Amino acid sequence: MSFESLGLAPALLRALSEAGYEKPTPIQAAAIPEVLAGHDLMAAAQTGTGKTAAFSLPLLHRLASDTRNEGRRPIRALILTPTRELAAQVQENLRDYGKYVRLSSTVIFGGVGMGNQLQALRRGVDIVVATPGRLIDHMQQRSVDLSKVDVLVLDEADRMLDMGFLPALKRILAAVPRQRQTLLFSATFAPEIKALAQQFMRDPREVSTAPANTVANTVTHVVHPVDAANKRDLLLHILSQDSRRQTLVFSRTKHGADKLVRHLEQSGVKSAAIHGNKSQNARTRALSDFKSGRVTVLVATDIAARGIDIDQLPVVINFDLPMVAEDYVHRIGRTGRAGAEGQAISLVSHDESGLLRDIGRLLKSDLAISNIPGYEPSTPLRLDAGAPRPKQQQRQPRSQNGGGGGQGRPGGNGASRNAGNGGNRSPAHRPHGHSAAGTGENTGSHKRRRQRRGPATNKA
Ligand code: AMP
Repeated sequence: MSFESLGLAPALLRALSEAGYEKPTPIQAAAIPEVLAGHDLMAAAQTGTGKTAAFSLPLLHRLASDTRNEGRRPIRALILTPTRELAAQVQENLRDYGKYVRLSSTVIFGGVGMGNQLQALRRGVDIVVATPGRLIDHMQQRSVDLSKVDVLVLDEADRMLDMGFLPALKRILAAVPRQRQTLLFSATFAPEIKALAQQFMRDPREVSTAPANTVANTVTHVVHPVDAANKRDLLLHILSQDSRRQTLVFSRTKHGADKLVRHLEQSGVKSAAIHGNKSQNARTRALSDFKSGRVTVLVATDIAARGIDIDQLPVVINFDLPMVAEDYVHRIGRTGRAGAEGQAISLVSHDESGLLRDIGRLLKSDLAISNIPGYEPSTPLRLDAGAPRPKQQQRQPRSQNGGGGGQGRPGGNGASRNAGNGGNRSPAHRPHGHSAAGTGENTGSHKRRRQRRGPATNKA
């Protein structure tokens, strides 16, 4: 299968060949023909599968074949994303793929002034990429006209619902024409996604190339057990093994991310944090410093990391495990993208044993556990049903960066039974595509996710 055989416009093929894309990824091969044929589409696709091009290419193709030369151009395509970073990333991709077609796009998100956005909207633009909160602000100010939208894309729809955007989405859906094409991309087709589709889509085609909750099989996973108090030293030890390597480190909390960056900087490692308490400018700067190599370590919280697209990121380190196992899959989506080799390293303390167990169950495969000499934990991990979990902190209302649970500290519940694997130095291995779909795990964990997370704010 080639991009040519999909029937895409020559101007797009030229841009793709310049970007070095040789052939469509599976989700692109499945989705592009359906979109070109004008169908509504539900696509199950993780970040890292090439999903952005899967909707952007046919969208650009369709709009480019119907360019209107009237003075002020109406918005013909609207792409909604859960986070600012993802919105910016999608628009960057649209610009790359569409550099030889005469279409304009703009990005709209919160955390920055309205001025530039108002100007772009006034000038007229073909494609708007937006986060729901700021788009609603523009709708209220009547600075955006959605009445000519032909194509609506909901990107990472599951995450938008998780973030409490359903009411905003409903308002936006009421403002776009009923006669339109709707494309919904989501990591999972949880019941609430299906309900959304039933209400707002017309006879959607479904495509899914990887079962829900799979990780790229080019990613090698390894868990290093360690006492929580020694995690920072172990991280430095791992980083010192290749000080030039760009590394994305995940922290469960904003506070933890800042503390870690301070520690790394004090130890001479150039690093930056990206999370929802940072201004948009600080986030953009951190990302571009990381991309340009000015900083080698980017410490991110889960939601802030959404949409970060860095070519060929070789390694992702989980300084803390996420409270929700699905977030492990999203984190790991940052490495091993589009066929490249990647490494996922998790530093796991005894009190996080239960979270590790959840991840193993979701992936249907235990991750390889390997002690690092000198950093062996005083209490081994437990992988039995009673494995401890970090205590939940009192939640602030969940904001854009997703905050997180408590920064786990050992000593949760007087664990004693050995984890079995604690001293196992088995080589890292690769879990293959494992689906939780149809097992009920998905639904269960979504429920858990919702219970754990506090109320959401709607500003992106
Ligand atoms: P996405 O899932 O949209 O975040 O894309 C993941 C990464 O794969 C991005 O860095 C894209 O530039 C890259 N990519 C997307 N499609 C292809 C393709 N057909 N060939 C090579 N790389 C691709």
